[in-house]
Amino acid sequence: MYANEEIKDIEDYLTELSAKSNDSAQSNKTKKKQAEPKQNTYLMIDRFAVEHFNEDFNNRISDSVQTAFAEGQGELVIMVDGIEKKWVYFNNRFEEDGMSFEEPSVNFFSFNNPYGACKTCEGFGSVIGIDEDLVIPDKGLSVFEDAIVPWKGEKMQEWKNHFIAVSRKNDFPIHKPYHELNHAQKKFLWQGGKDWDGITAFFKELEKQTYKIQYRVMLARYRGKTVCMDCNGTRLRQDSNYVKITPNTFDPTHAGTEKDTRVTLSEILLMSIDDCYAYFNDLSLSSQDLEVAKRILVEITNRLLFLKNVGLGYLSLNRLSNTLSGGESQRINLATSLGSSLVGSLYILDEPSIGLQT
Ligand SMILES: [Zn+2]
Repeated sequence: MYANEEIKDIEDYLTELSAKSNDSAQSNKTKKKQAEPKQNTYLMIDRFAVEHFNEDFNNRISDSVQTAFAEGQGELVIMVDGIEKKWVYFNNRFEEDGMSFEEPSVNFFSFNNPYGACKTCEGFGSVIGIDEDLVIPDKGLSVFEDAIVPWKGEKMQEWKNHFIAVSRKNDFPIHKPYHELNHAQKKFLWQGGKDWDGITAFFKELEKQTYKIQYRVMLARYRGKTVCMDCNGTRLRQDSNYVKITPNTFDPTHAGTEKDTRVTLSEILLMSIDDCYAYFNDLSLSSQDLEVAKRILVEITNRLLFLKNVGLGYLSLNRLSNTLSGGESQRINLATSLGSSLVGSLYILDEPSIGLQT
């Protein structure tokens, strides 16, 4: 044991502890218990001097670490007793800056599994909410030109006027057509920012007043299936985006900037198959990563190449199969069959171009 800054035998420590508790039980009868300073007590697993290049020593340490994690419920402390004394804390959780991360597993990256599915849309990729296409049917109009249909009415005009008033402060181009706005500007318009609560808040306000029939009618008019904002329609749980493919060209100083070359699974799902193939084809990994990913990379690029070769390079992997045309489904089946490397098979295709534009 390590307690009160000294090493003790566990038996001695327990006797000492029970004696102490008897004492305090007796003293409790006569006077109020005095607050004792809290002492951390540690279970000592091992003591050692570091030995380099010694396999027995390494094995011993790994055993001790394992025991410490088991006894310490995932936490261990190493006390370095050198010229400078220091304590080094470890835990076996995926954790940094107070955030804990799930240990990635196969299901973590699967929206077909409740564990990996987005918590907001439950893996459907869309939620019932306010439909952007119904609120802004003509994306060629600017906010100033009444792109936002529900704000056209006399009373609702106040929201538009308020938005115009705060737009300059927030550097928002009110005369720019909606489809030319960038992601940040659209986000500001919908989700709000400084002095502005957003279109979402506007509809929340309406929801609060649904006892008025006209608001109920209005809400119903704009309600529809919308792309889930949390997973961007990729159906994957949000924290799966913390796991990124890191090419060896990645420069850590670019993390979080536009030059960040790391890619998440969600981003891969949203790429066109052409871009996706190009990405995996050009991907250069460190020798260690390559060793791990070698086989899977061959499988990925082969499958993407089949899809590309049957003329489906414009689709994304995120496309739902029930939104495909007949010809596209046939071609996907063809790509699957080609991928299984059957020999001596004859394929007869009936109308493989049905529903395709080209
Ligand atoms: Zn979602």
